[in-house]
Amino acid sequence: MPAKTGQQYMDRLKKANNNIYIHGERVKDVTEHPGLKNVVKSMAELYDVQHAKADKMLYNSPATGNKVGMTFLQPKTIDDLVARREAIVEWARTTGGMMGRSPDYLNAEVMAMGVSNDLFAEADPMFAENAKNYYEYARENDISLTHTLIHPQVNRGKAQHEQKDANVALHLVEKTKDGIIVDGIRLLATQGGITDEILVFPSTVKKAGEEDDPYSLAFAIPNNTPGLKFISRESFDYGKNEWDHPLSSRFEEGDAIVSFENVFVPWDRVFVCGNSSVCNRTFRETNAVVHMSHQVVSKNVVKTEFLLGVVLSMMDAIGIDQFQHVKDKGTEIMLTLETMRSHLYRAEQNAKLDQWGTMTPDYAALDAARNWFPRIYPRLVEILRVLGASGLMGIPTQADFQNEEIGAIIHRGLQGKNLEGYERVQLFRLAWDMTMSAFGSRQMHYEYYFFGDPIKMGMTYFDGYEKESYKEMVRDFLGKVNTPKPNFAKV
Ligand SMILES: Cc1cc2nc3c(=O)[nH]c(=O)nc-3n(C[C@H](O)[C@H](O)[C@H](O)COP(=O)(O)OP(=O)(O)OC[C@H]3O[C@@H](n4cnc5c(N)ncnc54)[C@H](O)[C@@H]3O)c2cc1C
Repeated sequence: MPAKTGQQYMDRLKKANNNIYIHGERVKDVTEHPGLKNVVKSMAELYDVQHAKADKMLYNSPATGNKVGMTFLQPKTIDDLVARREAIVEWARTTGGMMGRSPDYLNAEVMAMGVSNDLFAEADPMFAENAKNYYEYARENDISLTHTLIHPQVNRGKAQHEQKDANVALHLVEKTKDGIIVDGIRLLATQGGITDEILVFPSTVKKAGEEDDPYSLAFAIPNNTPGLKFISRESFDYGKNEWDHPLSSRFEEGDAIVSFENVFVPWDRVFVCGNSSVCNRTFRETNAVVHMSHQVVSKNVVKTEFLLGVVLSMMDAIGIDQFQHVKDKGTEIMLTLETMRSHLYRAEQNAKLDQWGTMTPDYAALDAARNWFPRIYPRLVEILRVLGASGLMGIPTQADFQNEEIGAIIHRGLQGKNLEGYERVQLFRLAWDMTMSAFGSRQMHYEYYFFGDPIKMGMTYFDGYEKESYKEMVRDFLGKVNTPKPNFAKV
């Protein structure tokens, strides 16, 4: 099946009957479950957008000529990169950037690893072939994906093989003629179970030593593979209507613990098997992290635009845009937006062809942006919260407005400078859901952590940054100071 429709996405999920547990129960049908059905509907809408905006969202498969999703495209020119970004932005605008795992995020990973697969061949040429074939399979069938990279948080002070129960984390149990058997736990699959397949890959930032080879795996399997369980955290979609919970009622993606109980993975789905050295280099040497960062930064530009729109509307609504510190806080968001846009522009315009013929964005620009956004996003949330003040708690529900006794009272009492009470509360409920509801808090936590621990990412950034030229600059400057050095023998 080429680029799928929303209905096809839902039909496939229904048929797969993935093994998901939520609120202590096995989910019978994700398309009907109260905690999952709305996000499934939103994902379906994204797949429909592909067809509604086919010019922007689809291209002709180089293998079959079928129309496939643009975010699977291997970019070969800067125009291709721009086309990928425009498709990403289209999806992000549908959600206000509130779905971190719209399909483009992992489509970028699969594309990059599929076309830049030499690294996987280090252990066996079959693994490179597998990565290439998986990319083509995912593209031609529009496979929706979740992924899991992290070992459980048992004792971060020790490597996996040193843990008191070294078999808790996902590990290799056995290699057989037909494939591998794996067992153990992985974290934390966003959209776990409401997608077709799961990618198991190493973390970009948590490097492993050779003794952790049994934990160093990369493969992809269907989410209904026997022995696989998704144990989802409680849903932050409380079944409220879209007026009351404009975001959590639509974009609550869910995060799941993934349990593998002696799961069989056929060889043709394995990319890395028991090789920490390859795992440690996977995301960087395949350029997957570069293309994923391109998606993330493009999405976060839209998210910042949306947040700015909400903050500016709040300022108008309660007449605070004339105050100096309020303007200054608005400026902070605008500067963030413009900075992110500049990173993106530089990344695309400085893109170069890599050794596999893929037009690859300038990683320096994207790496700076992906390290910076997790640090600045909490500040954007804080600005919204500070400016919203009591307005973020004086938020009656739609049912209150419909009540004959109190509806008219709050409609009048909660009016704004340019909005009636009902409209003003709708706006402030959006601001609350973006930042302070369970959904909103999770958004902040997501932006901080989803790409890895920002502290460790920052350490890697510092270590990898070219520092010598800056120190040289200072040495040169000081060396030219026009006063003689004292003779210390005489001092
Ligand atoms: C909402 C959300 C969604 C996510 N979705 C996914 C997903 O879909 N797929 C996926 O694979 N992962 C996902 N993640 C997990 C994410 O990749 C991790 O949260 C991130 O990599 C950090 O790892 P950790 O949570 O294990 O933190 P830990 O490594 O346990 O860190 C906890 C704290 O200890 C500190 N710390 C730990 N070790 C060290 C050290 N060696 N040196 C210094 N400080 C240290 C950290 O700085 C941090 O403050 C998601 C996370 C969140 C919050």
